[in-house]
Amino acid sequence: MDIILLGPPGAGKGTQAQRLEQQRGMRQLSTGDMLRAAVKAGTPVGLKAKAVMERGELVSDEIVSELIDAELTAMGASTGAIFDGYPRTAAQAASLDEILASHGRSLDHVIELEVDEDALVERITGRFTCASCGAGYHDTFKQPVVEGVCDSCGGTEFKRRPDDNEETVRTRMAEYRAKTAPILPIYEERGIVSRVDGMASIDEVTGAIDAILG
Ligand code: ADP
Ligand code: ADP
Ligand code: ZN
Repeated sequence: MDIILLGPPGAGKGTQAQRLEQQRGMRQLSTGDMLRAAVKAGTPVGLKAKAVMERGELVSDEIVSELIDAELTAMGASTGAIFDGYPRTAAQAASLDEILASHGRSLDHVIELEVDEDALVERITGRFTCASCGAGYHDTFKQPVVEGVCDSCGGTEFKRRPDDNEETVRTRMAEYRAKTAPILPIYEERGIVSRVDGMASIDEVTGAIDAILG
């Protein structure tokens, strides 16, 4: 089963993708994570993407589609993919169809996380992750059970993203509205879109997604 989690920055895509990985053995394919890894490693893609990401704008369609294609090639055919933060434009949606077809795969569900924009800035500016395993946390909504210790791996170092500040979030929300939200009708025509109330608690959102995936 291959699915897309769609929603603006801070909607909870990464949080839910990590749970689906743990509970269903699916694989999260986050172009944001792939790009951050490329920036950190200083690859040619990373060098191109760094400044664009810091501004909150979108990197080129070719770059992200190539990253996704490479990950799918490396992944077993029987492992379900969770596309998180991809596709973000009509061109990327078209590329994804081609890429999936070339791997003998197809989309089963597009799950839109519906959220109130006013809540997103607070979600994003309070977000942090474990530096060792990448588990996601929030200053107010999801503190580690033991303060300063990662629930998943016991790590004690955490990090925050340079683009998780209010100004950049506003740009990222505008990009979502202008370029990403308009791709939903493509999937609606295929009858594969489901909507989930992303303002509910993390557990409730997981429950709603479970009900959709069956
Ligand atoms: P996205 O991947 O869509 O940008 P994240 O999953 O990283 O979003 O979530 C953004 C922040 O909000 C994180 O700090 C996360 O812990 C928190 N969060 C995610 N889902 C919820 C929720 N349903 N209620 C409250 N906080 C949430
Ligand atoms: P969010 O928490 O906003 O969902 P991501 O981690 O998905 O953030 O993306 C962070 C940044 O990486 C984006 O603001 C953008 O610059 C770049 N990026 C990630 N995925 C894509 C994509 N599919 N197309 C273009 N740019 C992307
Ligand atoms: Zn950890």
